[in-house]
Amino acid sequence: MIKAKYPIEKFSKIETPFYYYDLEVLRKTLEEINIQSKKSDFHVHYAMKANVNPSVLAAIKDAGLGADCVSGGEVQAAIDAGISPSKVVFAGVGKADWEINLGLDNDIFCFNVESIPELEVINELAAAKNKVAKVALRINPNVSAHTHHYITTGLSENKFGINMSELDQVVDLFPTLSNVKLIGIHFHIGSQITDLTSFQGLCVRVNELQEYFQSRNVVLEHINVGGGLGINYEHPNHFPIPDFDAYFKVFRDHLQLLPNQTLHFELGRAVVAQCGSLISKVLYVKQGSSKKFAILDAGFTDLIRPALYQAYHHIENLSSDLAVEPYDVVGPICESSDTFAKGFELNQTKRGDLIALRSAGAYGEIMASQYNLRKLPKAYTSDELLA
Ligand SMILES: *Cc1c(COP(=O)(O)O)cnc(C)c1O
Repeated sequence: MIKAKYPIEKFSKIETPFYYYDLEVLRKTLEEINIQSKKSDFHVHYAMKANVNPSVLAAIKDAGLGADCVSGGEVQAAIDAGISPSKVVFAGVGKADWEINLGLDNDIFCFNVESIPELEVINELAAAKNKVAKVALRINPNVSAHTHHYITTGLSENKFGINMSELDQVVDLFPTLSNVKLIGIHFHIGSQITDLTSFQGLCVRVNELQEYFQSRNVVLEHINVGGGLGINYEHPNHFPIPDFDAYFKVFRDHLQLLPNQTLHFELGRAVVAQCGSLISKVLYVKQGSSKKFAILDAGFTDLIRPALYQAYHHIENLSSDLAVEPYDVVGPICESSDTFAKGFELNQTKRGDLIALRSAGAYGEIMASQYNLRKLPKAYTSDELLA
């Protein structure tokens, strides 16, 4: 079994559980995103909701990415991190007035509008400030992402976006709203998408919609195809960086941009997942009637993905090279769903061993809670611990 290299000496002095971010992995990932996206001058906005650790955000800002926000808090965090408001897009089905006002006050690049009532409210709030808000219509393209149903967002049954049947009504509305300017269309079909043909399906739908908007004499400056590129949770050591070349190529080959149109992406997981690990200690090894439990000091309050989405995280015992044995790897929280993996082949494990839950950089730390009155996990970076 190949294991990742960690500063284990340093780890043993830190209170567990904690997140560890390998900024070298992050910087290499960002470098690859820039190489592959710049081949076609694609614009990438980092989906803030995946992780807002300050060191992680600083690396992302240094790489020149914009931000994709889904709350006022994220808009503020992006600006505080030094990301230019001219690169900030703001989506979300339920934007509150203060959140819209925050976007207006900062002259963000674009509001991704998810309903007609929201469009009317943005127009009203922009009018009160004598501003014209730039908006894109988030269209629900009814394209399946072939992923877990909790993270599918682009089917007409989902709550997100404007349905295609409403487009005539929306296009007719714009001439009556003088404080919003339609600059583009936006999509986001789901997350952890590993079958690139789903994105090909999205491209086909975008091309059809381009024809529709042309037929209605609407000029779109921007197309935003959202995020959703998946990562390899099974083999983080073999595939630490997603295949951005293949991903961007799908859009280059299948999406027909019109002259002067720019193409935008909103990647979250693919940017940050592989640089992060949740480091935990084994509290007890308990022999059940038919299996062994490795009981960790980390639980779903630290990393909720397995409990919430039945997600798989690769697990390594950093303290043992003994032969592997199957363990149910569980946390201390009083819920049966507090299980990271069942029958996972770990190197023989004892109390005090350090355990790494891999690929935890996205939707990990940011989703931590204090349920059971537990402490929130702290976070450390390779820059700090390897210095
Ligand atoms: C969550 C989200 C993203 C990012 O999704 P990933 O799967 O992490 O790439 C992009 N756009 C919108 C609107 C989102 O809600």
